[in-house]
Amino acid sequence: MGVAVAFARGTEAHVDLDAIVKNLTLFRQRVGPDVAIMAVVKANGYGHGAVEVARTVLSHGADWLGVATAEEGQELREAQLSAPILILGGSSSEQVRIALAHNLDLTVFDLVGWGYITDWAHQLKVRPRVHLKVDTGMNRIGVKPDEVMQAWIARLSGPEVVWVGLMSHLAASEDPSDAVTTAQLAAFLNVVEQIRTSGAKGPQTIHLANSAATLRYPGTHFNMVRVGMGLYGGAPYAGAPALRSAMTLTTRVTMVKRVPADTPIGYGGTYVTVRPSTIATVAVGYADGYRRALSNRAEVLIQGQRCRVVGAISMDQTMVLVPSQLRVGVGDRVVLIGRDGRDVITVEDVANWAQTINYEIMTGISVRVPRVYSS
Ligand SMILES: *Cc1c(COP(=O)(O)O)cnc(C)c1O
Repeated sequence: MGVAVAFARGTEAHVDLDAIVKNLTLFRQRVGPDVAIMAVVKANGYGHGAVEVARTVLSHGADWLGVATAEEGQELREAQLSAPILILGGSSSEQVRIALAHNLDLTVFDLVGWGYITDWAHQLKVRPRVHLKVDTGMNRIGVKPDEVMQAWIARLSGPEVVWVGLMSHLAASEDPSDAVTTAQLAAFLNVVEQIRTSGAKGPQTIHLANSAATLRYPGTHFNMVRVGMGLYGGAPYAGAPALRSAMTLTTRVTMVKRVPADTPIGYGGTYVTVRPSTIATVAVGYADGYRRALSNRAEVLIQGQRCRVVGAISMDQTMVLVPSQLRVGVGDRVVLIGRDGRDVITVEDVANWAQTINYEIMTGISVRVPRVYSS
């Protein structure tokens, strides 16, 4: 009984699918009925479970799914999801084959990838669905707008492929300054205009916005937005409208002990008690995605009360300092991310303690942690 064993440890990621539906509804209100919403479910749905999230959002008005790899798209197809799915990044030759076998849309941005696509299209006798990615300033992937746009328009207008989309990606949509986004939008509009004046039929789906841009820049919506972080309720930028956090990460107390002053705690004794203290050991560590950078920095909630993480977080276990007024016992629930009583620890709090971003914390919760769904 693999599942029972996994759950028995008590370290669980609770996913509130209703929160995701409510966040989707907020995005729908922002974009209106005529703009398609691509729910980005790459990296196992930002750690929430790609198939469960995809099923939920598709039955509540999302139109497309976005993934990072052909393999992620294949997983969704094998779960019988038939919505259009776009692979947002580049694909190897073998990944192009997987994509075409599962009717996944491909992103194209250079002649190597174009070669994979046309070769496999020929062999498999299919017409691949492709989106042209333009690099408007991120300098990650994309065709430069000033480089051979006419040649790309000609290629994509030919009979070998179905030209489904034109896209770019914003590098600083969360930045308080609008400068970078404004410049990227102008470059993108210029490409849209080049396609229009070329006389080519052009793609039907034009998309640029991620979560932050969808909320902050209505001019970036075109006819589809690509929403990831906002669906899961993480803040896509500081000061974003209140979204509902879908993730609660919990564990259990495995040991409670009293120790005298001057007791070193954990590997390397990076914390030493200053007075007689109660230390609780809890069943989570960096192998669960509770990052070692949180050592001596993070806080957790037990019975709704804040307790400091003390000592180095180890692979599977962590120690916390129990405040003197609190009576803690083995088996008590420990909230690492989420609400407990009147207090809450957000994924942004954890990211700040670990000196990283909410995206990395969410996607880093490892496969060892069972996901538990409620709706
Ligand atoms: C991940 C990703 C998104 C989603 O970004 P969020 O900030 O999570 O909304 C959109 N577009 C592309 C190309 C991506 O890779």
